[in-house]
Amino acid sequence: MKYCIVGGVAGGATAAARIRRLDENAVIVLFERGEHISFANCGLPYFIGGTIKERSRLFVTTAEAFRARYRVDVRPGNEVISIDRKAKKIRVREISGGREYDESYDKLLLSPGAEPVKPPIPGIDTEGIFTLRNIPDTDAIRNHLEMKRPESAVVVGGGFIGLEMAENLHHLGIRVTIVEALDQVMTPIDFEMAAEVHRHIRSKNVDLILSDGVKSFARADGGVTVTLASGRTISAGIVILSIGVRPESSLARSSGLDITERGAIVVDDHLKTGDENIYAVGDAVAVMHKVSGTRMSIYLAGPANKQARIVADNMVRGDTRIYRGSAATAIAKVFDLAVASTGLSEKALRAAGIECKSVVTHASSHAGYYPDAKPLSVKLVFSPEGRILGGQIVGYDGVDARIDMIAAVIGMNGTVRDLAELDHAYAPPYSSAKDPVNAAAFAAENIVDGLVRTVNWNEINKHGDTFLLDVRSRNEFSLGSIPGSVNIPVDELRENLAMIPPNRTIIVNCAAGLRGYLASRILMQKGFKDVYNLSGGYKTYESASAGDSGHGEEFVGPDDMTYRKGVAPAGLQTHAAMILDACGLQCPGPIIKLKEAMDGSVEGSELVVVASDPGFIRDVRSWCTLTGNILVSVTEDAGKITAVVRKGARSAENAVVSTGAGETIIVFSDDLDKALAAFVLANGGAAAGKKVTMFFTFWGLSVIKKPRAKGAKKDFLGKMFSLMLPKNSRKLSLSKINMGGMGSMLMRFRMRRKKVESLEKMIDSAAAAGVEMIGCQMSMDIMGVSREELFEFVKIGGVATYLEAASSSGINLFV
Ligand code: FAD
Repeated sequence: MKYCIVGGVAGGATAAARIRRLDENAVIVLFERGEHISFANCGLPYFIGGTIKERSRLFVTTAEAFRARYRVDVRPGNEVISIDRKAKKIRVREISGGREYDESYDKLLLSPGAEPVKPPIPGIDTEGIFTLRNIPDTDAIRNHLEMKRPESAVVVGGGFIGLEMAENLHHLGIRVTIVEALDQVMTPIDFEMAAEVHRHIRSKNVDLILSDGVKSFARADGGVTVTLASGRTISAGIVILSIGVRPESSLARSSGLDITERGAIVVDDHLKTGDENIYAVGDAVAVMHKVSGTRMSIYLAGPANKQARIVADNMVRGDTRIYRGSAATAIAKVFDLAVASTGLSEKALRAAGIECKSVVTHASSHAGYYPDAKPLSVKLVFSPEGRILGGQIVGYDGVDARIDMIAAVIGMNGTVRDLAELDHAYAPPYSSAKDPVNAAAFAAENIVDGLVRTVNWNEINKHGDTFLLDVRSRNEFSLGSIPGSVNIPVDELRENLAMIPPNRTIIVNCAAGLRGYLASRILMQKGFKDVYNLSGGYKTYESASAGDSGHGEEFVGPDDMTYRKGVAPAGLQTHAAMILDACGLQCPGPIIKLKEAMDGSVEGSELVVVASDPGFIRDVRSWCTLTGNILVSVTEDAGKITAVVRKGARSAENAVVSTGAGETIIVFSDDLDKALAAFVLANGGAAAGKKVTMFFTFWGLSVIKKPRAKGAKKDFLGKMFSLMLPKNSRKLSLSKINMGGMGSMLMRFRMRRKKVESLEKMIDSAAAAGVEMIGCQMSMDIMGVSREELFEFVKIGGVATYLEAASSSGINLFV
């Protein structure tokens, strides 16, 4: 028997080796267009970033070694250009020299993989723009990095290859901007889970631009200028294009084999094409998705390798084995986070019209009392009857094992009960007696059994006139809450039922979902009819509704080499009198512990707090500023945040004292003249070297709206407000003599004549001068203004953010 194989990497090389193991007498010819067979595609980003040091480590085997061991006729540098199915012959072209020849086959396997998508964006072929698929691409990128030494990079696309490249370029000390046209990275996971990834990426000082696609590329001095749909331009010394891949199926198409609408080769359950003698595997084929039951491309190495083993059996022994499909189980390292998914996301299921329910839970990677527990967020998606349809996990430790637990249950068509009872290995350093995945399944069971109903973070307003009940402790509530919510701690709920309106929809929230569930059970059993628990609690709500407010330059991680703003303090351990372990505690647990410890300490003493909650980086800074304690340093390493705090002269109870160094302006009005006055003062203050903070609230939000913003989905009242409010700064009216818009036109005309900058220019100048502009979260919620409508440089904050700024201001104006 003679077997010809097209493609010599994951699927092709694996199948060739298996065929030899099954048939020692077979003639096997392996054609590979590139110079190398069996290289580690998945390792390429890490070689570029320097984690994998030697290029030779990328080659799992060489053509010579493969020939020697398997006696396979390996032909690198040979491209198969056509198939004569009738004559059972292929035509091959040698890449060097161009000689063409024919090769006969008895059985043919296609494993040609997938190629990066390169849409016809103007300037896409500009020098300095790269895609990453193989060794030559890797060499070209490495060469560019070594020769041109770029200081900045743009990665287009927030999929797993894009994010891996962003991390690796960052690791090389390059300032990275990620541009993603959708409103989230990592499309296999849902938005609220991706929001945790967004926050983490931004905490690394990587600029993440969402909901803005690339309009064009152009050559610029020593690099590339990337222009986005919004009009924003970014200069980069290197651009990595990673906006997706598509099946490389042109050979199959030209030989008349069936191809799906999306360009994948059609195969049956035996991985055979419509031709009796031709099989196909890997990225190029459409296989059964275990959850949707439809055929689709799954661009992952695991499925390609497993299919290769099965197809080799079918080619040698007749069609004896069936490939049962894949749940597309995947994991990626995104800086210190691991992000994993299996099955389908909630949004994918809803888009496909498949009814589903979901739950988000927050737990720790192992028992909270054992040191170094790290946060772990789990989302389960399931049918109303309880069949598991998908799982998503974001965390620092133990993400891989947990996603595989969910994948195993999906593989057996299992239910939330199967997952709740799934055996797992446990000892405190590794897990909890109830593993986080079991615990998520318990929560899902409760939903399926009708013990509780849940709402997602973005469905709070969907139920009309709702009563928002926050059952966390008063301390937790004071550090941030959902606008409009009423705080009754769960332990006091039974005594305070009279405060809860019996005829309204009640949405209960706690920090992570558990106390909310307890409160929901109390209320339901006390006769309240319409009760919902907020899935994932305030933690999910806070991170998903935070918009673009990243940590920016406030925090620089230990692996940030080029633009490091400060170094970790020397002698950290020797300074410190006490170490407080707050790992495993969710926000605001670490802050509460810190406050308790500080209350009992004397001025000048230092405390080292170690926490794993990602929000602690920002919270500890704000808390210190507000309370007059001194943040000596804050560092993060692999998800562990270490802050050194020195007790200040002023205690937490003291009133906020003005230090007089800054200027704070509350912009409440949307009148053009008042907005102009505010920005004149802001720019003046900034020019005088003051730290200026502008807090935009209620009508003032219209001043900082982008000209062509894509708005998020709004409820009815949100839409009404949108219709009535000015669309952006250009649509503002004068507070007096507006005369149906004539007045503001006249004002703008006069300003031009008098060479006074326009309001829009003033806004730009203020942003460039470092004026901090904060959109009031509460006003945004009330007025239905979404994050996407505001300029990227606007941060979102609440009253605590304003108070923090005001406390260091000598001037505090209300416009
Ligand atoms: P490939 O392994 O791509 O092999 C196809 C080969 O066929 C290519 O070398 C090509 O040159 C050759 N070929 C094509 N047409 C012809 C022809 N006409 N004649 C001769 N030769 C031809 N997956 C994961 O699961 N986890 C990861 O972490 C991961 N990371 C990745 C990182 C990168 C940068 C890339 C590019 C991919 C990554 N993948 C990852 C995807 C994974 O590599 C693929 O799913 C897998 O390699 C698919 O195997 P395949 O055999 O179908 O195609």
